[in-house]
Amino acid sequence: MTEKILLHMCCGPCACWPTKKLREENFEPVGFFFNPNIHPHTEWKLRLKTARDFAAKVGMNFFADNHYRLREFLEKVLPVVDEADTIQFGDGFHKRCGICYSWRLCEVARFAAENNFKTFTSTLFYSRHQNHELMKKIAETFAKKFGVNFFYEDFRAGWQEGIDLSRELGLYRQNYCGCIFSEEERFSNDLRKARKKFFTRQR
Ligand code: SF4
Repeated sequence: MTEKILLHMCCGPCACWPTKKLREENFEPVGFFFNPNIHPHTEWKLRLKTARDFAAKVGMNFFADNHYRLREFLEKVLPVVDEADTIQFGDGFHKRCGICYSWRLCEVARFAAENNFKTFTSTLFYSRHQNHELMKKIAETFAKKFGVNFFYEDFRAGWQEGIDLSRELGLYRQNYCGCIFSEEERFSNDLRKARKKFFTRQR
């Protein structure tokens, strides 16, 4: 018998491998899009549409939080976003990312509890670019808080297969994490130079 599982989807491409794997493991994944971190609004709409299209293509039920929450996101992360965090990113990750994971995983656990899902997981565990261990701790904390189970799997094992699947399905593939800060870090030459200078000084 298959067991229903709430699958938080950060986007369409990252959902390809986890959806396949969960089905192989006898789960029936149901998608849930909650990503108020994404900037700008048009990008958020595009990622939401891609997630919805993916779910339709693979015959998966899908829910989404349709409110764009830029202001709330900024209120949460701005207190920790300073120049130092942007340039150094301490242990390899930004302080703001912990806040971003917490908000999203908290809402996923809450949605699971309020909608009779016993278990949830997230496509964030497919990404090679996130702080995997931190996300795991956060997901476990909110699972406990809301009385649901967090299903852990290191979906990074299917990294290349996931990329291939997303290409086969013709999904839009973004090239930065999501927030306005990650967009700047990805495309700003000035920021790249500032980082290089900082790390040269450190040596
Ligand atoms: S870089 Fe990604 S995980 Fe970190 S705050 Fe921005 S959107 Fe969230």
